[in-house]
Amino acid sequence: MMTIPTPSRAENVDLSTLTTMATPGVARLVITAPDSDSLQGLLRDLAREHEPFILLGGGSNTIFTRREVQPAIIRLGEGFDFIESIGEPRGGRLRTGAATNLTTVLQFALRQGLMGLEWAVGIPGTVGGAVVGNAGARGEAMGDSVERVLGLTRAGEPVCLERGDLHFEYRDSNLRDLVVTEIELRLEPGEPDAIRARMAEFRAARRGQPYGDHSSGCVFRNPSGDFAGRLIDELGLKGFAVGEARVSPAHANFLINDGDATPEDVVALIEQVRQRVRESRGIELRTEVILVDPDTVEAAS
Ligand SMILES: Cc1cc2nc3c(=O)[nH]c(=O)nc-3n(C[C@H](O)[C@H](O)[C@H](O)COP(=O)(O)OP(=O)(O)OC[C@H]3O[C@@H](n4cnc5c(N)ncnc54)[C@H](O)[C@@H]3O)c2cc1C
Repeated sequence: MMTIPTPSRAENVDLSTLTTMATPGVARLVITAPDSDSLQGLLRDLAREHEPFILLGGGSNTIFTRREVQPAIIRLGEGFDFIESIGEPRGGRLRTGAATNLTTVLQFALRQGLMGLEWAVGIPGTVGGAVVGNAGARGEAMGDSVERVLGLTRAGEPVCLERGDLHFEYRDSNLRDLVVTEIELRLEPGEPDAIRARMAEFRAARRGQPYGDHSSGCVFRNPSGDFAGRLIDELGLKGFAVGEARVSPAHANFLINDGDATPEDVVALIEQVRQRVRESRGIELRTEVILVDPDTVEAAS
């Protein structure tokens, strides 16, 4: 009889290790599911017991708004960390587990002579997080290359979505309520030198972004026809801080953790920036980062 590996559990995990913003706190329980079967069993158990949970990829687009996280945090383990070519050689189709690093996928595509992900250079996190949030840069985005998505509902039922079922928009998709486990990508054949040149262009466009600091990338979505960073900069808010959370002096849409920023500092800074922009420009900035209030997370039904 085949045995299903048991998810591994870690208690009282230092929250600062789970997100790139690295705010402090304690996660009561972090469960890592090693493969699809164990993930399915876990989700079904949690749904049956009406236990809320928080799904986390690389934590590079997530900010916890409190220091104590009582709901279980679920992560996808090694069985979701893979990438391979499928179909015809150089046919452009790749299959990847949702926990695979986005950079790993980009590097694999480069080695295969496949083009279309160069915008992803320098973007941290998992490919699952990138697909769900339709990560992108300079008008190109993850959703452009996604052909099929496999996953589970939050109650553990399998789902397979084909291209026509998928909806991507600016930093969003119709996959938010799923646990994405596997993604099929379709890329275009390209010369490695041309791919490297495009990667270099995207890398150059990122110069000036605060890469050495703890951050979650851009915090606000760009309002229609404008840039959130430009609006914040125009108000002279670069360097503005609440506690140890600061508007990056390098890029006004990046909020950085100067070292000991608490979730309260980060939330207050986001609110103050929003308020200044609202009062002086009449524009309501919406967050691009996912703010997770652990106290309001609901169980799957
Ligand atoms: C320095 C820096 C630069 C960045 N630059 C960019 C950029 O140029 N463009 C851009 O778009 N983003 C950028 N980001 C933000 C971030 O890296 C991306 O949004 C990334 O794709 C998030 O992936 P993640 O795995 O870290 O997601 P997480 O933060 O772990 O999760 C984000 C959301 O996705 C959900 N999620 C994660 N995995 C899954 C899954 N398997 N199934 C279902 N839901 C899932 C989570 O529940 C959460 O709601 C940047 C971040 C940093 C720190």
